[in-house]
Amino acid sequence: MQIYWTKINKIIEETPEVKTYLLDCPEGVTWEEGAHIHLALEGFNAGDKPNRSLIRHMSISTLPHENSIGITTRIREQCSLFKSILRNLGVGDEVAIFKIHSNVPLKREDKNVYLLSSGVGLATFRPLVLDYFDRADNVNQIHSLNIDSSRDYLFKSIFESAPDKKFTSQFVDNRKDYYEEVKKLAADKDGLFYIVGSDEFLMQNIEVLREQGIQPEQIMLDKRESQRSEFLSYELTM
Ligand SMILES: Cc1cc2nc3c(=O)[nH]c(=O)nc-3n(C[C@H](O)[C@H](O)[C@H](O)COP(=O)(O)OP(=O)(O)OC[C@H]3O[C@@H](n4cnc5c(N)ncnc54)[C@H](O)[C@@H]3O)c2cc1C
Repeated sequence: MQIYWTKINKIIEETPEVKTYLLDCPEGVTWEEGAHIHLALEGFNAGDKPNRSLIRHMSISTLPHENSIGITTRIREQCSLFKSILRNLGVGDEVAIFKIHSNVPLKREDKNVYLLSSGVGLATFRPLVLDYFDRADNVNQIHSLNIDSSRDYLFKSIFESAPDKKFTSQFVDNRKDYYEEVKKLAADKDGLFYIVGSDEFLMQNIEVLREQGIQPEQIMLDKRESQRSEFLSYELTM
């Protein structure tokens, strides 16, 4: 496994609690839309075993042609050791990245695509939407639905409905509205539904979609195949 140490080249304050860290892209590193990495902080590999409190999975919120690896994360006042260290890093500081993999590339199957996310989950979808804007081939249309109770909605310049691009974006600030919208979207029995958020959020979305007759193969999760099957089979046994 190759570990790349790379520098933070810019920090964007997306909202009071959400920051995007743009990292220099090490030579030879590339990725597909929907990819995630392991992001690790100084000292994570100092001992015999990797120190897990200094490592987190993070989606890459940029595309390779943006020339930086973007990491978007919410850092609350009360936060983990990992985030308290990250919060204090600045431009020029180094972090490590490794194990790049995408579970949720954009499927180009001539279908309507629905992106369902919670909070910074939208970061996983940013590159999918940019990739679609660059090249809409074999994607009928994309609809994004994001729930964020903070109401500080992210990436508003990209997640803005654009009828000419067959892209719609919806933000809601409460669960009731959110799940009502999911039910409406599930009226499309042939759509592809991507879900990103906490495990609890995934389960609830899967339940609603399955109740509406959406099949497991129409549901995309940012999980390895074995974990994805577990999430989807749980619903099937009910
Ligand atoms: C494939 C994949 C992709 C992912 N992509 C992203 C991504 O792009 N961006 C992202 O942010 N996360 C992403 N995650 C999740 C990420 O790995 C972390 O699990 C998540 O950000 C939580 O981070 P944390 O554990 O450092 O906790 P924190 O975010 O610091 O805390 C989690 C919650 O616990 C509370 N809390 C923490 N410590 C305390 C304390 N001492 N006292 C009181 N409350 C506390 C916080 O307020 C917060 O509500 C991804 C996960 C996977 C598996």
